[in-house]
Amino acid sequence: MEKSVYRWNSDKPYRCPDCYAVAVNMEIPRWWRVYTCCKCGTRFTRWPVLARFLRDAGVQCSFHRERGTA
Ligand SMILES: [Zn+2]
Ligand SMILES: [Zn+2]
Repeated sequence: MEKSVYRWNSDKPYRCPDCYAVAVNMEIPRWWRVYTCCKCGTRFTRWPVLARFLRDAGVQCSFHRERGTA
């Protein structure tokens, strides 16, 4: 079972759309990747409807990153 993926805020794609924590500070957010908020675990991307086809970038916060998927 998969959790739903949220659409990021177009003016602040590096922030979690749910808790607004800065969740992506290791790269410029790319539309073809699905990010995971380091704080609340929300997954978000530019086009949620395409989420299953997009690449999972996981946590991209340098403070809280746990696993490396370069
Ligand atoms: Zn969050
Ligand atoms: Zn973080």
